[in-house]
Amino acid sequence: MTNHLPGPPGAGKLYVVATPIGNLGDLSPRAREVLSACALIAAEDTRHTGVLLKHFGIETPQVSLHDHNEASRAIEIIAYLSDGKSVALVSDAGTPAISDPGFELVRAVAAAGMEIIAIPGPCAAIAALSIGALPTDRFCFEGFLPARGAARRLRLKSLADEPRTLVIYESPHRVHETLEDCVAAFGQERPAAIVREATKLHETTYRGSLLELCDGSKSDADVARGEIVLLIGGAPQTAVSADDAESRAGLDKVLVALMAELPLKQAARLAAQITGARDNEAYKRALFLKQRSASL
Ligand code: SAM
Repeated sequence: MTNHLPGPPGAGKLYVVATPIGNLGDLSPRAREVLSACALIAAEDTRHTGVLLKHFGIETPQVSLHDHNEASRAIEIIAYLSDGKSVALVSDAGTPAISDPGFELVRAVAAAGMEIIAIPGPCAAIAALSIGALPTDRFCFEGFLPARGAARRLRLKSLADEPRTLVIYESPHRVHETLEDCVAAFGQERPAAIVREATKLHETTYRGSLLELCDGSKSDADVARGEIVLLIGGAPQTAVSADDAESRAGLDKVLVALMAELPLKQAARLAAQITGARDNEAYKRALFLKQRSASL
């Protein structure tokens, strides 16, 4: 375990600052204070953040930090922190590093032994969960699904047995297509919710079964307007269903063929990819099949 707090003597701190997801009133007083006091703001899009800073009369200089320059920017920012200057990291909206740039920088600053402080606040996933009326005791954040249909369907298939509430970021123009894929992967009955434009003027939450939301997203153009978080209730935890038995039989068949040619781990990994089963499920099943054949 490494614990570098409070960081090298004289070093600045990296503040990871959440910003509003649509309502400027959601910028916390502490976030304002930190954005004003830091020597530099690393922003996903400096023009976008410029609007926020102007609104609050904050004059701290900015540099861009986005997916395409994060690694090189991280080196510059670490040099800056070493000089005793503190830096605030922001993204266009919500919490940095959550389906947004920031992770590479945070990892690099942590590896350099410097202090990182969270200034928490808006996050679309958490806002949606808090009002979605689906179980929140355990949830599974999937971020954005693959944009391409085949890859998206494969991902959804691999989530079919996930018992936790799924949290998905989706672009509005794909929401109907994604809901159709969800119905195919999870069935029509799963409870679900779409939280649209949270914290904004047209904030709306649609709740219903996956099929109802899928039909609604076709007939009501508003569903596909603005920013969206999709929540889907987890897989019901029941005894093995006919579908499960069928997919387990399919997994077994693929495993038996692959295990005849490959080491167990590799066979399990490939079988999971081929069938859409979870890696650990395929691995457990491979172990079971191996033990069963040994005892025959
Ligand atoms: N870092 C952000 C956060 O903390 O939520 C997420 C950034 S991600 C690039 C943008 C996605 O978040 C959108 O496509 C949408 O799925 C979701 N999102 C952001 N703002 C939202 C809002 N006001 N209402 C609903 N969903 C929102």
